[in-house]
Amino acid sequence: MSSGIVYLVGAGPGDPGLLTVKGRECIQKGDVIIYDYLVNIVLINDARKDAELIYVGKQGNQHTLEQDEINQLIVDKAKENKSIVRLKGGDPCVFGRGGEEALFLLENNIPFEIVPGITAAIATPTYAGIPVTFRRYTSTFALITGHEDPTKPDSDIDWAKISTGIGTLTFYMGVKNLPYIVEQLVKHGRSKDTPVAVIRWGTRANQETVTGTLESIVENAKSIKAPAITIVGEVVKLREKLNWFENRKLFGKSIVVTRSRDQVSEFSEKLTCLGAEVIEFPTISIAEPDDFTPLDNEIKNIEGTDWLVFTSVNGVDSFFDRIFALGKDIRDLKGVKICAIGPATSKRITDLHLNVDCKPPKYVAESIVEALKSMGEIKGNKFLMPRADIARSFLPEELKALGATVSDIVAYKTVIAEPRNLKILDRLKDGSIDIVTFTSSSTARNFVKIIGEENIPAISDKVRFLSIGPITTETAKELGLNIAAEAEEYTIPGLVDIIIKELQ
Ligand code: SAH
Repeated sequence: MSSGIVYLVGAGPGDPGLLTVKGRECIQKGDVIIYDYLVNIVLINDARKDAELIYVGKQGNQHTLEQDEINQLIVDKAKENKSIVRLKGGDPCVFGRGGEEALFLLENNIPFEIVPGITAAIATPTYAGIPVTFRRYTSTFALITGHEDPTKPDSDIDWAKISTGIGTLTFYMGVKNLPYIVEQLVKHGRSKDTPVAVIRWGTRANQETVTGTLESIVENAKSIKAPAITIVGEVVKLREKLNWFENRKLFGKSIVVTRSRDQVSEFSEKLTCLGAEVIEFPTISIAEPDDFTPLDNEIKNIEGTDWLVFTSVNGVDSFFDRIFALGKDIRDLKGVKICAIGPATSKRITDLHLNVDCKPPKYVAESIVEALKSMGEIKGNKFLMPRADIARSFLPEELKALGATVSDIVAYKTVIAEPRNLKILDRLKDGSIDIVTFTSSSTARNFVKIIGEENIPAISDKVRFLSIGPITTETAKELGLNIAAEAEEYTIPGLVDIIIKELQ
Protein backbone atom coordinates (compact mmCIF):
# COMPACT_ATOMS: atom_id res chain seq x y z
CA MET A 1 0.00 0.00 0.00
CA SER A 2 1.29 3.48 -0.83
CA SER A 3 1.69 6.14 1.85
CA GLY A 4 -0.53 8.47 -0.14
CA ILE A 5 -3.81 9.45 1.46
CA VAL A 6 -6.91 11.16 0.18
CA TYR A 7 -9.10 13.54 2.18
CA LEU A 8 -12.56 13.97 0.73
CA VAL A 9 -13.33 17.39 2.11
CA GLY A 10 -16.56 19.39 2.12
CA ALA A 11 -15.79 23.03 1.33
CA GLY A 12 -19.16 24.31 2.53
CA PRO A 13 -21.62 26.36 0.53
CA GLY A 14 -19.49 29.36 -0.43
CA ASP A 15 -19.03 31.73 2.51
CA PRO A 16 -15.37 30.99 3.33
CA GLY A 17 -16.19 31.12 7.04
CA LEU A 18 -18.39 28.07 6.63
CA LEU A 19 -15.49 25.69 6.02
CA THR A 20 -14.80 23.37 8.97
CA VAL A 21 -11.62 23.74 11.00
CA LYS A 22 -10.62 20.23 9.94
CA GLY A 23 -11.28 21.06 6.30
CA ARG A 24 -9.00 24.07 6.58
CA GLU A 25 -6.23 21.98 8.14
CA CYS A 26 -6.46 19.60 5.19
CA ILE A 27 -6.21 22.45 2.68
CA GLN A 28 -3.21 23.91 4.53
CA LYS A 29 -1.33 20.61 4.51
CA GLY A 30 -2.27 18.93 1.21
CA ASP A 31 0.28 18.29 -1.54
CA VAL A 32 -2.43 18.33 -4.19
CA ILE A 33 -5.81 20.08 -4.08
CA ILE A 34 -8.39 18.86 -6.57
CA TYR A 35 -11.43 21.12 -6.50
CA ASP A 36 -14.82 21.67 -8.10
CA TYR A 37 -16.87 24.44 -9.61
CA LEU A 38 -18.88 25.10 -6.44
CA VAL A 39 -15.82 25.52 -4.22
CA ASN A 40 -15.17 29.13 -3.34
CA ILE A 41 -11.76 29.80 -4.86
CA VAL A 42 -10.81 31.98 -1.88
CA LEU A 43 -10.38 28.81 0.19
CA ILE A 44 -7.51 27.73 -2.04
CA ASN A 45 -5.48 30.73 -0.81
CA ASP A 46 -4.79 28.68 2.32
CA ALA A 47 -3.04 25.96 0.34
CA ARG A 48 0.72 25.65 0.56
CA LYS A 49 2.61 27.75 -1.98
CA ASP A 50 4.05 24.61 -3.55
CA ALA A 51 0.77 22.67 -3.56
CA GLU A 52 -0.48 21.48 -6.93
CA LEU A 53 -3.92 22.91 -7.64
CA ILE A 54 -6.15 21.06 -10.08
CA TYR A 55 -9.55 22.33 -11.15
CA VAL A 56 -11.96 19.61 -12.23
CA GLY A 57 -15.08 21.76 -12.20
CA LYS A 58 -18.30 20.71 -13.72
CA GLN A 59 -20.63 23.45 -14.74
CA GLY A 60 -23.94 22.22 -16.09
CA ASN A 61 -23.05 19.88 -18.92
CA GLN A 62 -19.56 21.24 -19.42
CA HIS A 63 -17.27 18.77 -17.76
CA THR A 64 -13.58 19.50 -17.57
CA LEU A 65 -13.03 15.86 -16.70
CA GLU A 66 -15.48 12.96 -16.58
CA GLN A 67 -16.13 11.38 -13.19
CA ASP A 68 -14.06 8.26 -13.93
CA GLU A 69 -11.20 10.45 -15.11
CA ILE A 70 -11.40 12.40 -11.86
CA ASN A 71 -11.37 9.15 -9.88
CA GLN A 72 -8.34 7.97 -11.80
CA LEU A 73 -6.55 11.28 -11.33
CA ILE A 74 -7.04 11.11 -7.55
CA VAL A 75 -5.71 7.56 -7.45
CA ASP A 76 -2.72 8.37 -9.65
CA LYS A 77 -1.74 11.32 -7.50
CA ALA A 78 -2.14 9.32 -4.29
CA LYS A 79 0.09 6.60 -5.73
CA GLU A 80 2.85 9.19 -5.94
CA ASN A 81 2.75 9.05 -2.11
CA LYS A 82 1.14 12.43 -1.90
CA SER A 83 -1.60 13.69 0.36
CA ILE A 84 -4.54 14.65 -1.78
CA VAL A 85 -7.36 16.96 -0.82
CA ARG A 86 -10.43 16.33 -2.89
CA LEU A 87 -12.40 19.50 -2.21
CA LYS A 88 -16.09 19.55 -3.03
CA GLY A 89 -18.81 22.15 -2.60
CA GLY A 90 -21.07 21.68 0.43
CA ASP A 91 -20.77 18.19 1.88
CA PRO A 92 -18.86 15.59 -0.14
CA CYS A 93 -21.52 12.93 0.35
CA VAL A 94 -24.62 14.99 -0.32
CA PHE A 95 -25.13 14.72 -4.07
CA GLY A 96 -21.38 15.03 -4.35
CA ARG A 97 -20.33 11.52 -5.34
CA GLY A 98 -18.14 11.32 -2.24
CA GLY A 99 -19.32 7.77 -1.70
CA GLU A 100 -18.39 6.69 -5.23
CA GLU A 101 -14.95 8.26 -4.96
CA ALA A 102 -14.37 6.60 -1.57
CA LEU A 103 -15.31 3.18 -3.00
CA PHE A 104 -12.92 3.65 -5.89
CA LEU A 105 -10.13 4.54 -3.45
CA LEU A 106 -10.92 1.42 -1.44
CA GLU A 107 -10.70 -0.72 -4.58
CA ASN A 108 -7.31 0.79 -5.24
CA ASN A 109 -6.08 0.27 -1.68
CA ILE A 110 -5.68 3.94 -1.02
CA PRO A 111 -6.46 5.16 2.50
CA PHE A 112 -8.97 7.96 2.78
CA GLU A 113 -10.78 10.14 5.27
CA ILE A 114 -14.00 12.05 4.77
CA VAL A 115 -14.46 15.53 6.23
CA PRO A 116 -18.11 16.63 6.17
CA GLY A 117 -19.10 20.10 5.08
CA ILE A 118 -22.14 22.27 5.54
CA THR A 119 -24.48 21.29 2.78
CA ALA A 120 -26.37 23.77 0.62
CA ALA A 121 -29.82 22.65 1.75
CA ILE A 122 -29.04 23.73 5.30
CA ALA A 123 -26.79 26.73 4.73
CA THR A 124 -28.55 28.54 1.91
CA PRO A 125 -32.06 28.60 3.45
CA THR A 126 -30.51 29.71 6.75
CA TYR A 127 -28.78 32.58 4.95
CA ALA A 128 -32.08 33.44 3.25
CA GLY A 129 -33.80 33.67 6.65
CA ILE A 130 -35.48 30.25 6.41
CA PRO A 131 -34.86 27.72 9.21
CA VAL A 132 -35.28 24.31 7.61
CA THR A 133 -37.26 22.96 10.57
CA PHE A 134 -39.51 24.91 12.90
CA ARG A 135 -41.70 23.30 15.49
CA ARG A 136 -44.94 24.96 14.53
CA TYR A 137 -44.55 24.20 10.82
CA THR A 138 -42.72 20.93 10.32
CA SER A 139 -40.97 18.02 11.97
CA THR A 140 -39.50 16.58 8.79
CA PHE A 141 -37.00 17.78 6.24
CA ALA A 142 -35.81 16.08 3.06
CA LEU A 143 -32.89 16.58 0.67
CA ILE A 144 -33.89 15.59 -2.83
CA THR A 145 -32.20 15.66 -6.21
CA GLY A 146 -34.02 17.78 -8.74
CA HIS A 147 -31.81 16.48 -11.48
CA GLU A 148 -33.87 13.48 -12.50
CA ASP A 149 -34.71 13.23 -16.14
CA PRO A 150 -38.47 13.95 -16.32
CA THR A 151 -38.85 11.69 -19.36
CA LYS A 152 -37.61 8.67 -17.39
CA PRO A 153 -40.54 6.22 -17.14
CA ASP A 154 -39.94 5.25 -13.48
CA SER A 155 -38.90 7.97 -11.12
CA ASP A 156 -36.60 7.07 -8.23
CA ILE A 157 -38.45 9.70 -6.25
CA ASP A 158 -41.70 8.55 -4.69
CA TRP A 159 -43.57 11.78 -5.40
CA ALA A 160 -46.78 10.56 -3.76
CA LYS A 161 -44.98 9.98 -0.46
CA ILE A 162 -42.78 13.04 -0.33
CA SER A 163 -45.39 15.51 -1.57
CA THR A 164 -47.54 15.17 1.50
CA GLY A 165 -45.44 13.02 3.83
CA ILE A 166 -42.60 15.49 4.43
CA GLY A 167 -42.83 19.06 5.74
CA THR A 168 -39.79 20.82 4.29
CA LEU A 169 -38.51 19.70 0.90
CA THR A 170 -35.24 20.93 -0.56
CA PHE A 171 -34.23 20.25 -4.15
CA TYR A 172 -30.63 20.31 -5.37
CA MET A 173 -29.85 20.83 -9.05
CA GLY A 174 -33.49 21.61 -9.70
CA VAL A 175 -33.43 24.86 -11.63
CA LYS A 176 -34.08 23.41 -15.07
CA ASN A 177 -36.65 20.98 -13.73
CA LEU A 178 -38.52 23.46 -11.55
CA PRO A 179 -41.75 23.27 -13.62
CA TYR A 180 -41.62 19.46 -13.43
CA ILE A 181 -40.94 19.44 -9.67
CA VAL A 182 -43.81 21.82 -8.99
CA GLU A 183 -46.13 19.83 -11.23
CA GLN A 184 -45.31 16.56 -9.45
CA LEU A 185 -45.82 18.04 -5.99
CA VAL A 186 -49.19 19.56 -6.85
CA LYS A 187 -50.31 16.47 -8.74
CA HIS A 188 -49.54 14.37 -5.69
CA GLY A 189 -51.49 16.49 -3.27
CA ARG A 190 -49.33 19.37 -2.03
CA SER A 191 -51.35 22.57 -1.80
CA LYS A 192 -50.74 25.15 -4.53
CA ASP A 193 -50.44 27.76 -1.80
CA THR A 194 -47.38 26.15 -0.25
CA PRO A 195 -44.60 28.77 0.04
CA VAL A 196 -41.46 28.19 -2.03
CA ALA A 197 -38.07 29.92 -2.22
CA VAL A 198 -35.33 29.52 -4.80
CA ILE A 199 -31.89 30.60 -3.57
CA ARG A 200 -29.01 31.11 -5.97
CA TRP A 201 -25.34 31.31 -4.89
CA GLY A 202 -26.46 31.06 -1.28
CA THR A 203 -24.14 32.36 1.49
CA ARG A 204 -22.12 34.38 -1.02
CA ALA A 205 -22.11 38.15 -1.51
CA ASN A 206 -24.15 37.62 -4.69
CA GLN A 207 -26.86 35.48 -3.05
CA GLU A 208 -30.19 35.93 -4.79
CA THR A 209 -33.54 34.74 -3.43
CA VAL A 210 -36.90 34.55 -5.14
CA THR A 211 -40.05 33.51 -3.31
CA GLY A 212 -43.56 32.54 -4.27
CA THR A 213 -45.93 29.60 -3.93
CA LEU A 214 -46.12 26.34 -5.82
CA GLU A 215 -48.49 28.19 -8.10
CA SER A 216 -46.32 31.23 -8.77
CA ILE A 217 -42.71 30.16 -8.30
CA VAL A 218 -42.07 28.98 -11.87
CA GLU A 219 -42.99 32.40 -13.19
CA ASN A 220 -41.27 34.29 -10.36
CA ALA A 221 -37.99 32.36 -10.66
CA LYS A 222 -37.84 32.47 -14.45
CA SER A 223 -34.60 34.42 -14.50
CA ILE A 224 -32.82 32.30 -11.87
CA LYS A 225 -30.02 30.11 -13.14
CA ALA A 226 -28.05 27.31 -11.48
CA PRO A 227 -26.67 26.81 -8.92
CA ALA A 228 -29.75 27.20 -6.76
CA ILE A 229 -31.57 25.36 -4.02
CA THR A 230 -35.34 25.19 -4.05
CA ILE A 231 -37.06 24.95 -0.69
CA VAL A 232 -40.72 24.09 -0.36
CA GLY A 233 -42.74 24.30 2.86
CA GLU A 234 -44.37 26.54 5.45
CA VAL A 235 -40.95 27.44 6.91
CA VAL A 236 -40.37 29.73 3.92
CA LYS A 237 -42.81 32.18 5.54
CA LEU A 238 -40.28 32.88 8.30
CA ARG A 239 -38.09 34.70 5.79
CA GLU A 240 -40.31 37.74 6.11
CA LYS A 241 -39.01 38.17 9.64
CA LEU A 242 -35.67 36.39 9.70
CA ASN A 243 -33.97 37.61 6.53
CA TRP A 244 -30.77 38.68 8.30
CA PHE A 245 -28.12 38.10 5.62
CA GLU A 246 -29.65 40.06 2.77
CA ASN A 247 -30.60 42.87 5.15
CA ARG A 248 -27.03 43.73 6.11
CA LYS A 249 -26.02 47.31 5.35
CA LEU A 250 -23.83 46.65 2.29
CA PHE A 251 -25.51 43.51 0.93
CA GLY A 252 -25.60 43.46 -2.86
CA LYS A 253 -22.94 46.17 -3.16
CA SER A 254 -19.64 45.65 -4.94
CA ILE A 255 -16.63 47.54 -3.69
CA VAL A 256 -13.12 47.69 -5.12
CA VAL A 257 -10.23 47.90 -2.68
CA THR A 258 -6.99 49.19 -4.19
CA ARG A 259 -4.60 48.82 -1.23
CA SER A 260 -1.55 46.58 -1.37
CA ARG A 261 -2.14 42.86 -0.94
CA ASP A 262 -0.57 42.73 2.52
CA GLN A 263 -2.64 45.63 3.83
CA VAL A 264 -5.97 44.67 2.47
CA SER A 265 -7.30 42.32 5.11
CA GLU A 266 -8.69 44.62 7.80
CA PHE A 267 -10.55 46.71 5.25
CA SER A 268 -11.87 43.72 3.28
CA GLU A 269 -13.04 41.97 6.41
CA LYS A 270 -15.00 44.96 7.61
CA LEU A 271 -16.75 45.36 4.25
CA THR A 272 -17.42 41.64 3.91
CA CYS A 273 -18.98 41.52 7.37
CA LEU A 274 -21.36 44.26 6.28
CA GLY A 275 -22.40 42.13 3.32
CA ALA A 276 -20.45 43.69 0.46
CA GLU A 277 -18.77 41.86 -2.37
CA VAL A 278 -15.15 42.97 -2.02
CA ILE A 279 -13.06 43.01 -5.17
CA GLU A 280 -9.41 43.11 -4.25
CA PHE A 281 -7.48 45.01 -6.86
CA PRO A 282 -4.10 45.87 -5.38
CA THR A 283 -2.54 48.80 -7.23
CA ILE A 284 0.57 49.12 -5.12
CA SER A 285 3.05 46.77 -3.62
CA ILE A 286 5.67 47.46 -1.02
CA ALA A 287 9.34 46.79 -1.74
CA GLU A 288 12.69 47.33 -0.06
CA PRO A 289 14.50 50.56 -0.87
CA ASP A 290 17.28 50.36 -3.44
CA ASP A 291 19.80 51.16 -0.75
CA PHE A 292 19.53 50.68 3.01
CA THR A 293 22.72 52.61 3.79
CA PRO A 294 21.08 55.94 4.72
CA LEU A 295 18.63 54.20 7.07
CA ASP A 296 21.37 52.01 8.52
CA ASN A 297 23.54 55.05 9.23
CA GLU A 298 20.68 56.74 11.04
CA ILE A 299 20.05 53.64 13.13
CA LYS A 300 23.73 53.31 14.02
CA ASN A 301 23.71 56.89 15.27
CA ILE A 302 20.28 56.79 16.85
CA GLU A 303 21.45 58.46 20.10
CA GLY A 304 21.56 61.74 18.18
CA THR A 305 17.85 61.51 17.31
CA ASP A 306 15.20 63.21 19.46
CA TRP A 307 12.08 62.16 17.58
CA LEU A 308 11.12 59.26 15.37
CA VAL A 309 8.15 60.17 13.18
CA PHE A 310 6.15 57.41 11.51
CA THR A 311 3.60 58.24 8.83
CA SER A 312 2.69 54.66 7.88
CA VAL A 313 2.57 51.12 9.19
CA ASN A 314 5.05 50.14 6.48
CA GLY A 315 7.51 52.70 7.81
CA VAL A 316 7.26 51.14 11.28
CA ASP A 317 7.77 47.62 9.92
CA SER A 318 10.70 48.55 7.77
CA PHE A 319 12.46 50.57 10.50
CA PHE A 320 12.18 47.88 13.16
CA ASP A 321 13.13 45.09 10.76
CA ARG A 322 16.25 47.04 9.97
CA ILE A 323 17.10 47.60 13.65
CA PHE A 324 17.04 43.86 14.08
CA ALA A 325 18.97 43.23 10.87
CA LEU A 326 21.76 45.42 12.26
CA GLY A 327 21.96 43.32 15.41
CA LYS A 328 20.25 45.96 17.55
CA ASP A 329 16.89 45.97 19.31
CA ILE A 330 14.42 48.35 20.93
CA ARG A 331 16.71 48.91 23.94
CA ASP A 332 18.83 51.04 21.63
CA LEU A 333 15.93 53.46 21.25
CA LYS A 334 16.09 54.63 24.84
CA GLY A 335 15.36 58.33 25.09
CA VAL A 336 14.02 58.71 21.56
CA LYS A 337 10.47 60.04 21.43
CA ILE A 338 7.94 58.64 18.95
CA CYS A 339 5.23 60.28 16.89
CA ALA A 340 2.68 58.32 14.79
CA ILE A 341 0.32 59.81 12.23
CA GLY A 342 -2.84 57.78 12.94
CA PRO A 343 -4.34 54.93 14.96
CA ALA A 344 -3.11 52.06 12.76
CA THR A 345 0.48 53.32 12.83
CA SER A 346 0.22 53.91 16.60
CA LYS A 347 -1.08 50.43 17.16
CA ARG A 348 1.83 48.89 15.28
CA ILE A 349 4.19 50.74 17.63
CA THR A 350 2.34 49.93 20.86
CA ASP A 351 2.24 46.27 19.73
CA LEU A 352 6.02 46.44 20.19
CA HIS A 353 5.44 47.66 23.77
CA LEU A 354 6.62 51.14 22.92
CA ASN A 355 4.63 54.22 23.87
CA VAL A 356 3.68 56.82 21.30
CA ASP A 357 4.51 60.29 22.63
CA CYS A 358 2.73 62.36 20.04
CA LYS A 359 -0.55 61.49 18.28
CA PRO A 360 -1.95 64.30 16.13
CA PRO A 361 -5.73 64.87 16.31
CA LYS A 362 -6.08 64.68 12.52
CA TYR A 363 -4.29 62.01 10.56
CA VAL A 364 -2.37 64.19 8.11
CA ALA A 365 1.15 65.67 8.10
CA GLU A 366 -0.18 69.18 8.75
CA SER A 367 -1.64 67.99 12.02
CA ILE A 368 1.68 66.42 13.08
CA VAL A 369 3.36 69.81 12.72
CA GLU A 370 0.63 71.46 14.80
CA ALA A 371 0.82 68.82 17.53
CA LEU A 372 4.63 68.97 17.81
CA LYS A 373 4.51 72.75 17.75
CA SER A 374 2.07 72.90 20.64
CA MET A 375 4.34 70.54 22.58
CA GLY A 376 7.23 72.97 21.95
CA GLU A 377 9.19 70.10 20.43
CA ILE A 378 10.28 71.30 17.00
CA LYS A 379 13.00 73.91 17.28
CA GLY A 380 16.49 72.53 17.90
CA ASN A 381 15.39 68.90 17.77
CA LYS A 382 16.58 66.17 15.41
CA PHE A 383 13.82 64.22 13.63
CA LEU A 384 14.13 60.89 11.85
CA MET A 385 11.36 59.91 9.43
CA PRO A 386 11.48 56.43 7.95
CA ARG A 387 9.10 56.89 5.02
CA ALA A 388 8.14 55.83 1.51
CA ASP A 389 10.16 56.92 -1.50
CA ILE A 390 7.20 58.94 -2.73
CA ALA A 391 6.17 60.57 0.56
CA ARG A 392 5.16 64.23 0.45
CA SER A 393 7.86 66.78 1.16
CA PHE A 394 5.58 68.99 3.28
CA LEU A 395 6.43 67.47 6.67
CA PRO A 396 10.26 67.59 6.52
CA GLU A 397 10.24 71.02 4.90
CA GLU A 398 7.88 72.49 7.45
CA LEU A 399 9.82 71.07 10.40
CA LYS A 400 13.07 72.41 8.96
CA ALA A 401 11.49 75.82 8.45
CA LEU A 402 10.55 75.79 12.12
CA GLY A 403 14.12 75.15 13.19
CA ALA A 404 14.42 71.36 13.31
CA THR A 405 17.05 69.07 11.81
CA VAL A 406 15.34 66.43 9.70
CA SER A 407 16.50 63.12 8.23
CA ASP A 408 13.83 62.13 5.75
CA ILE A 409 14.88 58.59 4.90
CA VAL A 410 13.52 56.10 2.37
CA ALA A 411 12.64 53.01 4.41
CA TYR A 412 10.50 51.31 1.77
CA LYS A 413 9.43 51.73 -1.81
CA THR A 414 5.92 51.87 -3.17
CA VAL A 415 5.80 50.26 -6.59
CA ILE A 416 2.95 49.74 -9.01
CA ALA A 417 1.38 46.29 -8.62
CA GLU A 418 1.22 43.79 -11.46
CA PRO A 419 -2.43 43.88 -12.53
CA ARG A 420 -3.96 40.45 -12.01
CA ASN A 421 -7.63 41.03 -12.46
CA LEU A 422 -8.24 43.00 -15.60
CA LYS A 423 -11.81 41.75 -15.88
CA ILE A 424 -12.50 44.55 -13.45
CA LEU A 425 -12.52 47.02 -16.34
CA ASP A 426 -15.53 45.28 -17.93
CA ARG A 427 -17.35 45.39 -14.62
CA LEU A 428 -16.51 49.06 -14.13
CA LYS A 429 -17.88 49.77 -17.60
CA ASP A 430 -21.07 47.76 -17.24
CA GLY A 431 -21.93 49.42 -13.94
CA SER A 432 -21.84 46.30 -11.79
CA ILE A 433 -19.38 47.89 -9.37
CA ASP A 434 -20.72 50.47 -6.93
CA ILE A 435 -17.61 51.95 -5.36
CA VAL A 436 -13.86 52.18 -5.87
CA THR A 437 -11.89 53.20 -2.77
CA PHE A 438 -8.56 55.01 -2.59
CA THR A 439 -6.53 54.79 0.59
CA SER A 440 -3.54 56.88 -0.53
CA SER A 441 -2.45 59.10 -3.37
CA SER A 442 -0.46 56.28 -4.92
CA THR A 443 -3.47 53.95 -5.03
CA ALA A 444 -5.30 56.60 -7.08
CA ARG A 445 -2.31 57.25 -9.31
CA ASN A 446 -1.66 53.58 -10.00
CA PHE A 447 -5.33 52.78 -10.48
CA VAL A 448 -5.42 55.26 -13.35
CA LYS A 449 -2.19 53.81 -14.78
CA ILE A 450 -3.47 50.24 -14.64
CA ILE A 451 -7.01 50.91 -15.84
CA GLY A 452 -5.79 53.35 -18.47
CA GLU A 453 -6.35 57.08 -18.46
CA GLU A 454 -8.42 56.78 -21.63
CA ASN A 455 -10.96 54.58 -19.80
CA ILE A 456 -11.63 56.94 -16.91
CA PRO A 457 -14.32 59.07 -18.62
CA ALA A 458 -16.30 55.96 -19.63
CA ILE A 459 -16.46 54.63 -16.07
CA SER A 460 -16.79 57.90 -14.18
CA ASP A 461 -20.58 58.10 -14.26
CA LYS A 462 -21.02 54.37 -13.51
CA VAL A 463 -19.06 54.11 -10.29
CA ARG A 464 -18.42 56.25 -7.24
CA PHE A 465 -14.83 56.98 -6.19
CA LEU A 466 -14.29 57.43 -2.45
CA SER A 467 -11.17 58.72 -0.74
CA ILE A 468 -9.64 58.24 2.70
CA GLY A 469 -8.67 61.90 3.19
CA PRO A 470 -7.90 65.31 1.71
CA ILE A 471 -4.46 64.55 0.24
CA THR A 472 -5.72 61.48 -1.59
CA THR A 473 -8.76 63.44 -2.78
CA GLU A 474 -6.54 66.17 -4.18
CA THR A 475 -4.36 63.70 -6.09
CA ALA A 476 -7.41 61.85 -7.40
CA LYS A 477 -8.99 65.06 -8.64
CA GLU A 478 -5.80 66.05 -10.44
CA LEU A 479 -5.97 62.68 -12.19
CA GLY A 480 -9.53 63.32 -13.36
CA LEU A 481 -11.17 61.01 -10.82
CA ASN A 482 -14.29 62.60 -9.53
CA ILE A 483 -14.31 61.92 -5.77
CA ALA A 484 -17.89 61.48 -4.55
CA ALA A 485 -17.05 61.59 -0.86
CA GLU A 486 -14.16 61.67 1.53
CA ALA A 487 -13.80 59.97 4.91
CA GLU A 488 -14.48 62.28 7.85
CA GLU A 489 -11.89 60.50 9.95
CA TYR A 490 -8.86 59.69 7.76
CA THR A 491 -8.69 56.00 8.65
CA ILE A 492 -10.01 52.71 7.30
CA PRO A 493 -12.94 52.69 9.78
CA GLY A 494 -13.61 56.29 8.68
CA LEU A 495 -13.70 55.17 5.07
CA VAL A 496 -16.07 52.31 5.92
CA ASP A 497 -18.43 54.82 7.61
CA ILE A 498 -18.51 57.00 4.51
CA ILE A 499 -19.16 53.98 2.26
CA ILE A 500 -22.20 53.10 4.35
CA LYS A 501 -23.40 56.70 4.23
CA GLU A 502 -22.94 56.91 0.47
CA LEU A 503 -24.82 53.72 -0.22
CA GLN A 504 -27.80 54.34 2.01
N1 SAH B 1 -22.32 18.55 -2.33
C1 SAH B 1 -23.08 19.77 -2.51
C2 SAH B 1 -24.16 19.61 -3.55
C3 SAH B 1 -23.65 19.32 -4.93
S1 SAH B 1 -24.91 19.21 -6.11
C4 SAH B 1 -23.67 20.20 -1.16
O1 SAH B 1 -23.62 19.44 -0.21
O2 SAH B 1 -24.18 21.31 -1.07
C5 SAH B 1 -24.93 20.81 -6.79
C6 SAH B 1 -26.15 21.57 -6.37
O3 SAH B 1 -26.01 22.00 -5.03
C7 SAH B 1 -26.41 22.83 -7.13
O4 SAH B 1 -27.05 22.57 -8.35
C8 SAH B 1 -27.34 23.56 -6.19
O5 SAH B 1 -28.63 23.03 -6.22
C9 SAH B 1 -26.75 23.18 -4.84
N2 SAH B 1 -25.85 24.20 -4.32
C10 SAH B 1 -24.58 24.02 -3.90
N3 SAH B 1 -24.07 25.17 -3.41
C11 SAH B 1 -25.04 26.09 -3.52
C12 SAH B 1 -25.13 27.47 -3.18
N4 SAH B 1 -24.11 28.13 -2.64
N5 SAH B 1 -26.30 28.11 -3.41
C13 SAH B 1 -27.34 27.47 -3.94
N6 SAH B 1 -27.31 26.17 -4.29
C14 SAH B 1 -26.17 25.49 -4.08
